[in-house]
Amino acid sequence: MPYRAEYIWIDGQKPTAKLRSKTKIVPDGEAPPIWGFDGSSTEQAPGSNSDCVLNPVFITPDPVRGGDNKLVLCEVLNVDMTPHESNTRAACAETAERYASHESWFGIEQEYTFFKDGRPHGWPIGGYPAPQGGYYCGIGADEIWGRDVVEAHTTACLEAGLAISGTNAEVMIGQWEFQIGPAGPVEASDQVWLARWLLYRIAEDFDISAHLTPKPVAGDWNGAGAHTNFSTKEMRESYDPIIEACEALGKAHDEHIDAYGAGIDTRLTGLHETAPWTEYNYGVSDRGASVRIPWQVARDGKGYLEDRRPNANMDPYVVTRLITNTVCSALEG
Ligand code: ADP
Ligand code: MN
Ligand code: MN
Ligand code: MN
Repeated sequence: MPYRAEYIWIDGQKPTAKLRSKTKIVPDGEAPPIWGFDGSSTEQAPGSNSDCVLNPVFITPDPVRGGDNKLVLCEVLNVDMTPHESNTRAACAETAERYASHESWFGIEQEYTFFKDGRPHGWPIGGYPAPQGGYYCGIGADEIWGRDVVEAHTTACLEAGLAISGTNAEVMIGQWEFQIGPAGPVEASDQVWLARWLLYRIAEDFDISAHLTPKPVAGDWNGAGAHTNFSTKEMRESYDPIIEACEALGKAHDEHIDAYGAGIDTRLTGLHETAPWTEYNYGVSDRGASVRIPWQVARDGKGYLEDRRPNANMDPYVVTRLITNTVCSALEG
């Protein structure tokens, strides 16, 4: 029997691109082929010359439809098969290839917020819930909203074969996190994008929407980030390269901040476990730093660092490319 392939791609919206998808029926026994779409409806082409190309780059079993059906993550190409200007994966793949000998690994903590009826899930109409304090890793119907969605999403990620490494309820009510990794720059990024698509798709069935806005509620409420844990082969073997990496990230602070997600100034205020976006610092166990060295890493004298700056709405292809490039070029001196 023919199967359904869900083609998933990243559109051209600015400043934050969005996921799109459509279904192709593929004959039994055939692989999902190159396909196309109307780029004039996704801010990727003018109406007079609207065709864009979908090139499959990462294919998994479809946990939503089951059976032989597939999810097909694509990169967008121009009709001459060159990368479309909205395609940030191509540059990420190039950087990953250039520094492949360093064996970069990424573990990405994707935070997000559930919304229902136009407000964060669990928030009372026209008022505020109890202040933050009990919600992080909480338990009980007075603290937790959306766990059924989280469980269904985690199962779906596992069935799709993604390297999901954990989930937790976050500090703000209605906010959650999942982690992907460790995996290489392109692999981790492909998987974050696919896990985001699965989150939106599964929440749809619960009549809930998930959002990556970096500061969903102004004031004394935590924002949503995408802490990016990173190591190279050298960093996994000794401590000096970890310090070198922290220093190199500091020298490139402005370039990284500009590319770590729209609205980063609303989230990196210096409060709520963040360092202000205008400053760079790093430290052991310091959740108020731009970059944290976990205490076990300091104790063992090897491991990885956590870049706490990226927003939840960041593009993982951009963030992993920048970190790989900044750190690996420094390690090569
Ligand atoms: P936090 O304590 O900041 O909440 P998490 O447990 O949520 O940390 O996330 C840590 C992430 O770091 C996980 O995704 C994990 O897979 C990843 N990780 C662990 N070791 C490494 C490593 N050597 N290199 C890169 N990432 C790593
Ligand atoms: Mn975490
Ligand atoms: Mn978190
Ligand atoms: Mn973290």
